[in-house]
Amino acid sequence: MPAMAQRVAAFGTTIFAAINSLARQHSAVNLGQGAPDFDAPPPVLEAAVRAVNSQLNQYAPNIGLPQAREAIALHAERFYGQRLTPEQVLITSGATEAMFAAILGLSDPNDEIIVFQPVYDSYVPNMRMAGVTPRYVNLYAPHWSFDPDELAAAFTPRTKAIIINTPHNPTGKCYSRQELEIIAELCLRHNVIAITDEVYEHITYDGTLHTRLATLHGMENRTLTISSLGKTFSATGWKIGWAMGAPELVESVNRAHQFITYSVATPLQAAAAAALAMPSEYFESLQAEYQRKRDWLLTMLRGAGFQPFTPQGGYFIMADWRGVAPEHVQDDVQFAEWLIREVGVASIPPSAFYRAEDKHRVAHLTRFAICKRDETLQAAADRLAAIRVSGD
Ligand code: PMP
Ligand code: GLN
Repeated sequence: MPAMAQRVAAFGTTIFAAINSLARQHSAVNLGQGAPDFDAPPPVLEAAVRAVNSQLNQYAPNIGLPQAREAIALHAERFYGQRLTPEQVLITSGATEAMFAAILGLSDPNDEIIVFQPVYDSYVPNMRMAGVTPRYVNLYAPHWSFDPDELAAAFTPRTKAIIINTPHNPTGKCYSRQELEIIAELCLRHNVIAITDEVYEHITYDGTLHTRLATLHGMENRTLTISSLGKTFSATGWKIGWAMGAPELVESVNRAHQFITYSVATPLQAAAAAALAMPSEYFESLQAEYQRKRDWLLTMLRGAGFQPFTPQGGYFIMADWRGVAPEHVQDDVQFAEWLIREVGVASIPPSAFYRAEDKHRVAHLTRFAICKRDETLQAAADRLAAIRVSGD
């Protein structure tokens, strides 16, 4: 009798684990997984240490530590003018658990949830585990825009929710207000809930404004907003996330959350409260630092023969590799493997964010993470620059 359940048998290993393992094997400079190789800001680390030393080491309330929920509500008001009570905030083990609990708590087997492709890799497996059917709407290069008619056609009587990730992983797209208005209008017309994943909310470029769908007219009570601490405070390993919105939505998510993790790391929730209250200069310097790294990496990739897309936000640059690879390299998976083995740089093949029949759409692209120290980016730059030299 096979031990593995049917439910998970088709999943395989996540692309991030697979690429990390290959990168380690070949001592590659790792621009794959979106995790900083620098530390969280000292005041955030100090707040965690203080919390550990202040007897905050037992279970937090199931919905989350009061001061952390209050800080999350205040942050929503400070940056988006959103008015939420702390009771409308649920703290989870990262955005990842928030999304799974949201899908479990808000949809039933045979319901449909609409996602945009490329789609962050955990959403569809979450749906499969919940017995929910994904409906796919494509984002088209170069601007990763969707066709409003294709989106309208994806809504059926079984549609329960739509998931929007903005700023978007892996493309760096930031949904414009106009695009969000199209989505909002369809949600209202079909009585559908929106679940947003806004983990990169504080990382945008060239003055692009992050727009929160929950703040659009009519969406306040039908949007569940998910975000987390990891990207904004360079602490991806802490896995402190949250889901917030109308009390009925949050209560539904908590029904699932209470039986997944019950509650999450208490001292880190206390540190999250301190982090979110940091002065504006912190958020501004984070933006400025990422803007500098993004600009640098774009120039560097162009110089090495790639054709990168310019991201509006997030941790990543998608780039066309066809000007760089030898002829035997046929698709993005082969390219990522070749780049690790032969060049010593790791990136992520974006077909991992597509269903099988659509993987060809990004077979000519690869995804580089920019959330790395300058030394790391320079080491990658040196290796990538060497491709052309050795190829000439
Ligand atoms: N959503 C998106 C779009 C992401 O890129 C990531 C990871 N980088 C996550 C969710 C996971 O967030 P967390 O670490 O808070 O679970
Ligand atoms: N979100 C990160 C990325 O896209 C990876 C997180 C994970 O490994 N699950 O690179």
